[in-house]
Amino acid sequence: MKLWHLIENSQTSANQMKPVELAQFKQLLDSASKVVVFTGAGISTESGIPDFRGPNGVWKSLQPIDFNDFVASEDARRLSWRRKFSNEYRLDSAKPNSGHIAISTLVEMGKVFSVITQNVDGLHQKSGIPDTQVIEIHGNANYASCLDCDKRFELITIAEIFLPDESLPYCDVCDGLIKTATISFGQPMPIGPMMAAEAACENTDLMIVIGTSLLVYPAAGFPQLALNNGANLIMINNEVTPLDGIFDLVLHHPIGATLSALL
Ligand SMILES: [Zn+2]
Repeated sequence: MKLWHLIENSQTSANQMKPVELAQFKQLLDSASKVVVFTGAGISTESGIPDFRGPNGVWKSLQPIDFNDFVASEDARRLSWRRKFSNEYRLDSAKPNSGHIAISTLVEMGKVFSVITQNVDGLHQKSGIPDTQVIEIHGNANYASCLDCDKRFELITIAEIFLPDESLPYCDVCDGLIKTATISFGQPMPIGPMMAAEAACENTDLMIVIGTSLLVYPAAGFPQLALNNGANLIMINNEVTPLDGIFDLVLHHPIGATLSALL
């Protein structure tokens, strides 16, 4: 790609919504009553959280720990907890940004009934959306759980066990392995959230996809599922995705500013 094309593209993506786009967005939103929002890493990068899987993502420089290795190897589990408690990728100080807050407002207005997210940062809940309306298909990095009985453990509890001498934590109920409550590479998708997400896609009349490049299946199939059930589709993402063609409205603009302009 020639340099001026790059410049042109970056200027386009930095632009705000055009009046005609805003009018289309409002019209699609006004004519919908059961909106589902589906978010990916792009919405949280505006809160300073790195995009782990993206082109400049953390996983390009740091090898992810496969789920099977985590289960099989004490060394892999130690490495996993060591990384978790190193300050570099801590999520707990991140705050919701204007994009999260705009979605939370739409939920409060009764317009959006469900938020499906690939993010593990818990920022939708921190922005005020009740747990029951957030579907986390990749889990949550702000706590841990037992792989066998699913008991929840707070990270502070695990830190107290692990940090003094790298002792590995085990479940006090069933002696199972404890792992951060995210879905790792190689780990099966969680059945409950996946079923809830599919049901939301089948019941929505407008799906707004935000900040995901739709490269990872099965999540990338959600917009198609909503479309098959007659929903309209809006995309807000700063780069082109392979599925842009199936959307009624595609906005290659910054997320927070775009959603704030809507409200
Ligand atoms: Zn257990």
